[in-house]
Amino acid sequence: MSQTKEGVHPHAAGLRASTEVLTRGFDPRLSVGSARPAVFRSSTYVFSSPEAAERAFSVASGKSKAAEGENVELIYARLNHPNAEIVEDQMVPLETGAKAAAVFNSGMAAIMTAMTTFAGPGDSVVYTVPVYGGTQHLIHEFLEPFGLKGVPVPAGNMKRLEEAIAGAANLRIVFIETPANPTLRMTSIKKAAEVAHARHKANGSAPPLVMVDNTFLGPVFQHPLLHGADLVLYSATKYLSGFSDLLAGAALARDVSLIQRMKARRVIFGNILPPDECWMLDGRLPTVALRMNRASKNAQRIAEHLNSHPRIKRVWYPSLFTDPEQIAIRNEQCDYPGGLVSLDLKGGKAAAFDFLRHLRIARNAVSLGGVETLACHPMTTTHSPLSEAELAEAEIGDGLVRLSVGTEDWRDLLADFEQALGKP
Ligand SMILES: *Cc1c(COP(=O)(O)O)cnc(C)c1O
Repeated sequence: MSQTKEGVHPHAAGLRASTEVLTRGFDPRLSVGSARPAVFRSSTYVFSSPEAAERAFSVASGKSKAAEGENVELIYARLNHPNAEIVEDQMVPLETGAKAAAVFNSGMAAIMTAMTTFAGPGDSVVYTVPVYGGTQHLIHEFLEPFGLKGVPVPAGNMKRLEEAIAGAANLRIVFIETPANPTLRMTSIKKAAEVAHARHKANGSAPPLVMVDNTFLGPVFQHPLLHGADLVLYSATKYLSGFSDLLAGAALARDVSLIQRMKARRVIFGNILPPDECWMLDGRLPTVALRMNRASKNAQRIAEHLNSHPRIKRVWYPSLFTDPEQIAIRNEQCDYPGGLVSLDLKGGKAAAFDFLRHLRIARNAVSLGGVETLACHPMTTTHSPLSEAELAEAEIGDGLVRLSVGTEDWRDLLADFEQALGKP
């Protein structure tokens, strides 16, 4: 806790996120005056006295609570370390409504820790599909054999979601990934939270936690905590870090105790984000809004231009939604449409593969959220484990290509996509 005492937060309230991310969580005096954080790579920490060690262990084990303003000393880097504290403190103002954050060594580590902290054998988890492949495997190959019941609901189908929430036994978690990958179908966070919390009132049981995987539009364009979600999860590998050069995950909540419970699990699992990665991530946070805004503007221009292209059947992009329910959800919970676009090409897989082969600027890779533009063919890569029925339900066709638009000049990208589509 040494880096994040009250004196480090000179401004208690009233600052905006873009200022707070640069002014809280880091005290240069604790890093020999360096203007940006140092990297603290030590695995273990020297105590100022045996009493301080005893106190640190007492607080860490939950036997006693740290007093307001108390400087509880660090113990060991699997429990906590200064770079994790700094990046967690700086992340909090970026997630509107959040009071606490925890960082993990990947997005999957954050999701796995969230699921196993708040649900156990005999409990149910309702989740939207299609869901990120790693999350799908986590549910099918680990949580279900472990005794949890997974209840899938098609993304954006609010009636099915309500029924699933009403019908699931011992429901502990409602896990929403919105927008869904790769068709960007949206699920109403507000509605899900209302239904989940109403069920709790009706049957008197503990309320299920509403978790949102906010990797695609957060923290800049979508604020789940404002719509009633309890926990926001990220693959910080994507937009938060933004350069496709590190793996990280994060969890944020309004209720500090949820994050504390996840951190207690993190100590056991040993999946805290290491110092170097924390340091890299914390240097990227002040530009996440700049990068995401630029990517979204680029993507919107490209999506709207390609929408009428003769070689394209359909462009999936939030500003091009036609379904009134989807438009209403978008307007309610998304500030801007974001940097992901999916193109359904005429000519199926052959046309999609030709398109990927001919790209000169965009590169054929999975992942997203970097400053560089990437393109992939979901059916044969990220979504290849899905059955034919699941692919059909998710509307993932063989001509579908997903683009993660970066921060290049949009005119160069559009020209690249047009040349790769070939002459009509
Ligand atoms: C990438 C991704 C994840 C997994 O994150 P990792 O950092 O790769 O572990 C989870 N959810 C979504 C939506 C993602 O795009």
